[in-house]
Amino acid sequence: MSNANWGCCFSENDNCDEFIVCVKCERKYHYACMIIDRKIITSDLLAIWACPECVHLQPKTANKDNTPVRNVSTVRGNKRIAIGSPQSDPEKVNISMEDIRQVVEGVMDDKMNDLFKRFNENLVRFFAKEIKPMRDEF
Ligand SMILES: [Zn+2]
Ligand SMILES: [Zn+2]
Repeated sequence: MSNANWGCCFSENDNCDEFIVCVKCERKYHYACMIIDRKIITSDLLAIWACPECVHLQPKTANKDNTPVRNVSTVRGNKRIAIGSPQSDPEKVNISMEDIRQVVEGVMDDKMNDLFKRFNENLVRFFAKEIKPMRDEF
């Protein structure tokens, strides 16, 4: 029954069942004082809940962790840009991907057209050779 265990208002008489314990400093806080809706309280939340004081201490390390993450996402963005066009803006990456698809389809069409032309040429030559003797016979 030590008031020192309370991190908020030190009044154990008022709604003393409705409190949450900080996992960091192990001080007790009333839901009402923390403006926590009892409906959102779960065993998972109780297992990880930290008081504002302790939470304020965490972002300092969290920010250090976030900075590399942002750099990683930037690197990812550059890689995507590199796939498309190195000079294009990030907004144009999607267009570049579409361009790549169109270029690939265009190359495929060119190859198919080239093959088709060669095939036709060979076919024409073949018939030309075959038809000539036949014409000579008739
Ligand atoms: Zn309180
Ligand atoms: Zn705490």
